[in-house]
Amino acid sequence: MINIKEYRCDFCTACVTVCPPDCIEVREASIKIDNDTCIDCNLCTYVCPIEVLSPDEE
Ligand code: SF4
Ligand code: SF4
Repeated sequence: MINIKEYRCDFCTACVTVCPPDCIEVREASIKIDNDTCIDCNLCTYVCPIEVLSPDEE
């Protein structure tokens, strides 16, 4: 599971591009991750240029 600091996101869609199961949706000024489809690969956390996304440690 990925935590989203949405207030920081600039909706550049870089994370959408790298997500293997295509479970990130960026539309207008919102970002959503489908946690049922997410495979916890953390690729999105590496590509986000401003650290909006982080692994949920729990
Ligand atoms: S952790 Fe992987 S599967 Fe989950 S949203 Fe990020 S890129 Fe997609
Ligand atoms: S890469 Fe980061 S800033 Fe860009 S849309 Fe994804 S979460 Fe937002």
